[in-house]
Amino acid sequence: MAQLQRITIAPSQLQESQILLTPQQEHYLKRVLRLREGEQFIAMDGLGKWWLAQINAEQAQVLKPLVVATELPVAITLMMALPKGSGFEEVVRSCTELGVACIAPVLSDRTLLNPSPQKLERWRRIAAEAAEQSERAFVPTILEPVTFKEAVTNSTANHRYICEARGEYSHLQNLIKPITGDVVIATGPEGGWTDKEIAEAIASGFQPVSLGSRILRAVTAPVVALSLISAACEV
Ligand code: SAH
Repeated sequence: MAQLQRITIAPSQLQESQILLTPQQEHYLKRVLRLREGEQFIAMDGLGKWWLAQINAEQAQVLKPLVVATELPVAITLMMALPKGSGFEEVVRSCTELGVACIAPVLSDRTLLNPSPQKLERWRRIAAEAAEQSERAFVPTILEPVTFKEAVTNSTANHRYICEARGEYSHLQNLIKPITGDVVIATGPEGGWTDKEIAEAIASGFQPVSLGSRILRAVTAPVVALSLISAACEV
């Protein structure tokens, strides 16, 4: 089982065995994930085809097609404002079981915690254990915590949602079918998002969504969001 990051490419980006990365994808792979020449990642076409690929001097190269049986057909990134205590560990474990591809911890205006580097190692270990337990083919990537603003600005996913507990927003369930490509979904801390954060997310192409009429805990919202997306995408 490998800890490889996934990106979604359009079929037209694959030419012979080269992947012509968009500037955003290149930025994501090389700057956000810090992949260097020779390092591997997974390219998905969002329609069920996966390839093992490698960064090369120019762009990226396909090494081989991959056969996957226990992975979701979409790459879901959970962007989560760090909750209090050990709440994030719980979320890493359950969202890995639910098929998340990438977890991006974010420091929001109302985040109380600034995690130590040891925490990141611990979250990665928990993800690896949970992936094994769920018989996943891949371990989700856990990114280093960044500010909320940086995270939303750098997001390249073609479907972007932010969960907001209050307001008259459409239910996530009504928005997610049919879905192809990759998805990012953001959930807030115990104190919720600030109005400024919601505005920043909207400016970066995120759509605010509801998960129902009750206020869920910060650690429950990601599980509900992941379940809804995976149920809509997995047949
Ligand atoms: N204290 C806040 C709620 C925070 S709940 C308040 O009173 O408004 C923590 C996070 O979970 C929220 O920021 C949101 O992202 C998510 N969440 C909880 N319930 C939700 C719901 N019903 N719909 C959408 N998102 C929800």
